[in-house]
Amino acid sequence: MSDNILEIRDFRISFDTYAGEVQAVRSVSFEVARNEIIAIVGESGSGKSVMTQSIVKLLPSPPAVIKSGSVIFDGKEISSYNFKQLRNIKGKEIAYIFQDPMTSLNPTIKIGKQITEGILTHSKLRRVEANEKALLLLQNAGIPNPQKRMEQYPHELSGGMRQRVMIAIAISMNPKLLIADEPTTALDVTIQSQILGTLKDINKKLGMSMILITHDMGIVANMAQRVIVMYGGKIVESGGVIEIFESAQHPYTRSLLASVPSLDADSNKPLDYILGSPPDMIDPPTGCPFAPRCRFSMKICYQQMPGCTETGDGHRAYCHLIDKRASTQKFRFNNEYSLTQLKGV
Ligand code: SF4
Repeated sequence: MSDNILEIRDFRISFDTYAGEVQAVRSVSFEVARNEIIAIVGESGSGKSVMTQSIVKLLPSPPAVIKSGSVIFDGKEISSYNFKQLRNIKGKEIAYIFQDPMTSLNPTIKIGKQITEGILTHSKLRRVEANEKALLLLQNAGIPNPQKRMEQYPHELSGGMRQRVMIAIAISMNPKLLIADEPTTALDVTIQSQILGTLKDINKKLGMSMILITHDMGIVANMAQRVIVMYGGKIVESGGVIEIFESAQHPYTRSLLASVPSLDADSNKPLDYILGSPPDMIDPPTGCPFAPRCRFSMKICYQQMPGCTETGDGHRAYCHLIDKRASTQKFRFNNEYSLTQLKGV
């Protein structure tokens, strides 16, 4: 049995639009180990959500088109699976939690029924047993008074409670992989930390692998073991959470870290931000996608896509500055943002 629950190779996803082909994901490869939590970070439009939703073809096609790539889940090549084959994997082996639970929950059906429906579809349990399981799931998702919640409709619950219901539904079939796409963005900070704590408990107790999509580096520091940084439909850096936070190599990753507010920071010093906007994915650049926004960009950055440089123990970055063939590094960063600081964010 492979150590990886998921292996993605050369994944390319486009959208056919009237304006042209939007190349949302451009040759992305990565893997998720069993029991591991990885975080995928990047700003809106970087391709992180499109890529993860395409694993089990959740996006409507057209306009979404998977151009190439291999998806190996639990040792099986699933990229060629048809709708019926994927239906047996969705929810049961790979589950999703999205940012807004109201778009996933049916407003006209009671919470209890929404949870038991999935259990009855994917298992041989009787209704009474499914009800008992639903109660337990709500408890595990941190919902007080689950009996009462079972009889309520989604609108009667707070945003945090609705997200916990989504967690209960997602873990109901004990999936091997849970993909959480910005699961706490719409929630206040206290509820956010409770929900993330619940997800971490589930990972520990059930040994469930997780992909956490976020743009919040504080969440990454608290949750993930490994980080993938995406920009312009490509992975620009990946590695263990400590390597990324203590010695990020790519200027984009460094900029993301520098834009995180810190309690220790000089309050007179303005927060860093990244000037400019992401590339046009209808006509993506031939060179480094970050070049127009990068303060270290050189002529070669606009002409040639940087290759992969391994800087140790699975830490990879794609930048001409750190290419081993470059005679000198033109930039030096101070390690201003430590993991310990960010864990307090
Ligand atoms: Fe900046 Fe060039 Fe590195 Fe891209 S390849 S991040 S433009 S230095």
